[in-house]
Amino acid sequence: MLVLVINSGSSSLKYQVRDVDAGTVLAEGLIERIGMGNGGLGDGEPMGPRDHAEALEQVDAELHRVLGDRAVDAVGHRVVHGGERFAEPVLVDNEIIRAIERLNPLAPLHNPANVLGLRAIAEKWPDMPQAAVFDTAFHRSIPEHAWRYAVPDWLYTRHGIRRYGFHGTSHEYVAHRAAALLDVAPEAFDGVVLHLGNGASATAVAGGRSIDTSMGFTPLEGLVMGTRSGDLDPSILVFLARQGHSPDEIDTLLNRESGLLALAGSNDMRSVVEAAASGDRRAALALDVTAYRLAKYVGAYHVAVGGAKAIVFTAGIGENSHQFRALVAARLGALGIELDAGLNAERSKEPRVVSARGSAIPVLVVPTDEERAIAEATAAVVRNAG
Ligand code: AMP
Repeated sequence: MLVLVINSGSSSLKYQVRDVDAGTVLAEGLIERIGMGNGGLGDGEPMGPRDHAEALEQVDAELHRVLGDRAVDAVGHRVVHGGERFAEPVLVDNEIIRAIERLNPLAPLHNPANVLGLRAIAEKWPDMPQAAVFDTAFHRSIPEHAWRYAVPDWLYTRHGIRRYGFHGTSHEYVAHRAAALLDVAPEAFDGVVLHLGNGASATAVAGGRSIDTSMGFTPLEGLVMGTRSGDLDPSILVFLARQGHSPDEIDTLLNRESGLLALAGSNDMRSVVEAAASGDRRAALALDVTAYRLAKYVGAYHVAVGGAKAIVFTAGIGENSHQFRALVAARLGALGIELDAGLNAERSKEPRVVSARGSAIPVLVVPTDEERAIAEATAAVVRNAG
């Protein structure tokens, strides 16, 4: 089955075509500056597409060129917020699109863009089966004691304020592959999964299900990230508001100007590691803060899952930065965790063990592949429906 995977942003559309049965990628691309004219580029620069429908025409032309007379069988969409309703991928119809649209207030930057992508496909190819795969779905198994905030009930009943968690497609995929690497059934996997990219989150997985995760009502909570602060005393927001900073300013401050960027002057882990190695004290401190905060979550989730059988690193930093993995592991000695320096330093695209033989808990590196997970989920949903 050929599945077109769509990740639709407000001004961009990322796509990939996968042959799910053969496990291959046939085409991929990114269309940017949708709806932005020529996006402030100089005269003579090409215009971006007018809207998502026009962007889709470009994708269609490219698919004709690459696929010839093979046709796409289904489309799978990454949808950021599935609220409390969606615990698994679903086949899309008009009612589902409206339900996703009703969740817009919970993800004002992302869900409206996802809806644009869903509608553009429905208009262009009315008979094409579409599936929505939600970033929040894997975390619907989190028990109430972990998703409740200790605030008055109306915040939840009126506004839906609770922990939702994100990166679920990645956490689930990586937990499955980690289980396979350890030769245990997915339902028997207990571990801590660390998705460390520009956005970062940790998930406690027990019996193959998410039972807690570090991102909360929004993707701001939890770990120190590229440009996001992660956890902080909520009174800081109140203090800043009283100092006259607007909600938008505070939003920008914590989501775009914090994290590694604030501490080290760069949100690129490669640059931060290099700067620290050449004696930059701010960069070294940034790494210490980030690794320390992450290690605290690992300790907490080791307890939450009743004893982790694996600690799993994934995404840009988790897969590629052996230096950052070593910094985190060095803080986990109390759990009996020890890396094998040689294995940790090896570069590979394969799932692998990087801990020493004597480590009390195996440490794994498992590359994530959200597009593959979305394509496979879409194929399964479409086959079940047919
Ligand atoms: P992602 O959001 O998963 O694409 O991850 C982006 C993050 O991965 C950025 O902070 C990059 O600096 C980091 N990253 C990518 N490659 C490397 C690498 N070879 N070493 C260290 N960090 C890396």
